[in-house]
Parts: sequence; C-alpha cells; structure tokens
Amino acid sequence: MKSYKDLSPSLRTIMTPGPVEVDPRVLRAMSYPILGQFDPEFTALMNETMEMLRDVFQTKNQWCYPIDGTSRSGIEAVLVSTIEPGDKVLVPIYGRFGNLLVEISERCGAEVVILERDWGSVFDPEEIIEAIHREKPQIVAMVHGETSTGCIQPFDGIGPACRETDALLIVDAVATIGGVSVQTDAWQLDAVIGGTQKCLSVPSGMAPITYNERVEAKVLRRKTIERGLREKGTAAPLGKTVASNYFDLGQLQDYWSPKRLNHHTEATTMLYALREGLRIVLQEGLEERFARHKRHEAALVAGLCAMGLSLYGDPDCKMPVVTCIRIPNGVDGESVRAMLLNSFGIEIASSFGPLKGQIWRIGTMGFSCNQKNVLHVLGALEAVLLWHGVDISAGKALQAALAFYARKEEDLPC
Ligand SMILES: *Cc1c(COP(=O)(O)O)cnc(C)c1O
Repeated sequence: MKSYKDLSPSLRTIMTPGPVEVDPRVLRAMSYPILGQFDPEFTALMNETMEMLRDVFQTKNQWCYPIDGTSRSGIEAVLVSTIEPGDKVLVPIYGRFGNLLVEISERCGAEVVILERDWGSVFDPEEIIEAIHREKPQIVAMVHGETSTGCIQPFDGIGPACRETDALLIVDAVATIGGVSVQTDAWQLDAVIGGTQKCLSVPSGMAPITYNERVEAKVLRRKTIERGLREKGTAAPLGKTVASNYFDLGQLQDYWSPKRLNHHTEATTMLYALREGLRIVLQEGLEERFARHKRHEAALVAGLCAMGLSLYGDPDCKMPVVTCIRIPNGVDGESVRAMLLNSFGIEIASSFGPLKGQIWRIGTMGFSCNQKNVLHVLGALEAVLLWHGVDISAGKALQAALAFYARKEEDLPC
C-alpha cells in the first residue's frame, strides 16, 4: 500500500494579498473540540461573533454573520438574494473583482450596466453618482479595494445617491475589512461583504457579511421556508424565489436568529477561527490596526523607491494594504517570484488579465503586516533582483525602511 508522509507545510513569509499568515491564537482556536450546532455553548459563540462583526463593519445592522465558503460565497449570497431576474444592476469596474460582480450578477439574471475605468485608477464618485441618476438601477455593486490593481475607491456621496434613487448599494470590502476603515453606516452602504484570509488573518473558508433593513425588506419579499421544514399554511413569497438554497439570505438569517431554523451545519472550526480573529482585531483596536497597516506600507514603499523600482497605479488611490510594483523591462517576473519562494521562503503575488507579467503585488495585511516581514521582503527582493542582473540601487532599500522605522512616532505620517 502506498504510504503518505506526515503533513509538514513549510513556514512561509506570506506577503501576498491573501491568503496571509495566521496568528497562532487563531490556529489554536481551530484545534478545540467540536460542539453541536444547536448546543447553547455554540450558539452563544455564534452570537458573540455577530456582535464583534458589527464593530468591525462599523454598523448597527442586526444582520452581521458569516457565509460558509470563501469570500466570493458572500458576494454570491448577497447578489443572488437581492437580484431578481430582470433587475438592473450598475457595476463600476476598475479591476478584476468588478468583473466578478458582473459575472455573478449576470448569472443571477440581471440586466447589467457597466461603467469602466482604466485599471490602476478609480472613479471620481461624481461619475458614479451621475450614472446612478441616469440609469436608475435597482442595485449598484462595486469593489472597495481592488487587490488586482492595488487601488481603493472613495465612496463620497454614492450611498446618499442610492438612497435618493431607491437603489441598493452592495460593496465588496473583502480585501479591506480589518485593514482599512470600512464605514458601513456612515457611508450608507446597504450590504457589505468581507473576507477572512486577507486583513482579518483567518484562513479562507468564510465570508462575513452585513446588510441593513433595506436589503432585508427585499430578502423577506422573496423568502421561502425549506420544503421539509414548512408548517401547514405557510404563505408563498411575494417576489421571485431565490435561485440558490445554500445562499438564500432569508433562510440563513432564520438560522442566525433566535429561531435557529435549521439550514446548513455551521462550520464549527471556522467559526472558532473567525471569533478568535475578530477578538484579536478588537483587542488591537480598529484605529490602531489601520495605523499599523499604513505604517508598514509606508516603510515598504520607502524601501522599494530607494531601490529604484517604480510603483504601479495612481498614488492618490493607492490601497494601504497592497503595493504594486512594475516589473522592470526584460525581467522574468515569475523567475523572481520563484527564487523568493525557493531561496527565502517568501511569497509575493503576480496579477491577472491585462496586468499578467506586468506587475508584482506585495500585501501588507493582518498578521503578515509587520516590521520583520517588510524588512525580509525588501532584503530578499534586492538580492534576487541583483541575482537576475537588474540595475537597482543596491544597499539603499533596507536603510530607507530602517530610517523610516527609526523616526519618532510624532513624525510618522499616520
Ligand atoms: C480575494 C478577493 C475576492 C475573492 O475571494 P475568495 O476568498 O478567493 O473567494 C473578492 N474580492 C476581492 C476584492 C478580493 O481581494
């Protein structure tokens, strides 16, 4: 019989835009015994997770709970539950994940209207507001932080424009939640999807979401009770039934409410992980956490620029948790990434679509976002680029980053 070796994954320095390194406290939480899904001890943990999510999403929304599945499961759940076939959905695209919103909306039967911006830049919010007034969509779906291009979209006035025109504003904040401020209530976002394996530093496998009464009203109009759980005389829904059972928010919210109406079996170990990850975020403090992300980003950028590398994208809309570097002419980007991984145990990312082979992306997210990792990646990148014969200013990067870290707190930009 074939024998398989013991599992022994290497200890990596993960500087990608996800998945990132996980705090040992989260890994430990994942090793605890299983509880039944209706055990009061477990439902209490579910409730605490909802409470902590409200703080992290900066909202008073009742509905704040994880969807079981990776981040795109949260996106699918929100879109399939809110889009009725034939609804008009406006999607402003400025990178790969805007395209994902289009793809999912189309599968939900939406009439999709697209606004497009060149990759590497974002929209002037006025442009989006004008399109909302012109198109009068039922739903506006957009990305907060585009990990594919390292750009972050400002929301000024977009939420209020959606209220005026009675559109629902749905936002993919998968890459920003827990690393950059996402102000669900203040920006009047109707539904927000977060991710675990990025700035929350929990393994992938859950997608925390939140939504308000405006979204809930639409969900309730379409709500059904699963066939085998229905009691006699249950009324038919007013709207079109949601095409997915697994992602039906109407059924999911019954499971996450005191009714505890059975749906799927909650992913016990992932819930432990998310709860511990959120506890770590709140113990650090949201503002302190955002400042930490900016600080290490600034050190990384100082080092990269001192090396003579040029960054990709409009600096005015740069995401603090992803830094994109133009691959110097004539350099094989994949060979550099492979050497970083094989010789230094460091992983950085490439990009997709039109940016494939054009840029490297370095994440400074969550538990991976620290001084040790920033210095390691700068030192290793310098060595690997010299090895590849690239003309860079040797010996400058680490000194620039160290100088940045040596500055007194009051001199720091954040
Ligand atoms: C990573 C990411 C996703 C997809 O997440 P999965 O967990 O891989 O499903 C969606 N949107 C954005 C902005 C992301 O960065």
